[in-house]
Amino acid sequence: MIPMAERISETLQKKVSDRLSFYQDLGIDLFYRDRRSVATRHREGQLESPATTHFSTPEFQEGETLPKPAAKPAWQKTAPVAPPPSPKIASLPVVAGPSLFESMDKIAGDSLLKIREDLGECTRCKLHSTRHKIVFGDGNPKAQLVFVGEGPGADEDAQGLPFVGRAGKLLTQMIEAMGLQRKDVYICNVVKCRPSENRQPEEDEVSTCSPFLMRQIDTIAPKVIVCLGAVAAKTLLQTNRGISQFRGEWLEFRGRKLLATYHPAYLLRNPPAKSEVWKDLQKVMAVLGLEVKKGKSAS
Ligand code: SF4
Repeated sequence: MIPMAERISETLQKKVSDRLSFYQDLGIDLFYRDRRSVATRHREGQLESPATTHFSTPEFQEGETLPKPAAKPAWQKTAPVAPPPSPKIASLPVVAGPSLFESMDKIAGDSLLKIREDLGECTRCKLHSTRHKIVFGDGNPKAQLVFVGEGPGADEDAQGLPFVGRAGKLLTQMIEAMGLQRKDVYICNVVKCRPSENRQPEEDEVSTCSPFLMRQIDTIAPKVIVCLGAVAAKTLLQTNRGISQFRGEWLEFRGRKLLATYHPAYLLRNPPAKSEVWKDLQKVMAVLGLEVKKGKSAS
């Protein structure tokens, strides 16, 4: 057997090592190696054809015999618990007053470019006075999956891109663990300018900025929206309930499936919650038709 070190570069070894560490954090400790080629697995119908999906095939670039994760997270080692019925959005107590978005109709012919042009060098709320760069959003304009976070942090404010700091690196790992790449999904925030000292955006800032988020979602028309953290979830769902009361449940937002989970920044402070988020992401994978490995033994 040829040692892995002779077959792959140091860069790829590091990437594999980082990926395996991430899976271990998620509670996945069993891996198998599929010796068949990607082409063979496509022929056998075990992988979606790249031509029929927006998503890239989640493979490493060198060789095809690298270990892939088997989805055997820690919770599978306990007795299965019947899932509670999925609540409807209407079952969540909504904030008094009209919804931010109920009067927003989809704008015919809208596009991300037009939305960005309409946003301009925005001064509509007080966040403009301390920002360096507007963080509009990034990713596939036709993504089936949209992640919505709270607002930019310092790294994002400096680069003008969402989720590029430590929390962003973790989100990237989460996306890759799903078998996707960042360019396959779309990532944006409720507010597009950084609240100073990383405070939460205030109500007037959210209500001023979030209509642009609505237009982004309507334009992209994803199959699934994943809210990262309480601010995104409460904004889209217009609820005062704590996220822990509906995290991981399928809800509906403007005719689309929505699921709220913890923000990656929370996971950095509370790593054990990663396994809960992984459960949520596996639900998303199932809806999107992404391959969810069942526990296979190593070969
Ligand atoms: S947060 Fe949104 S509404 Fe406020 S200044 Fe920035 S882009 Fe404009």
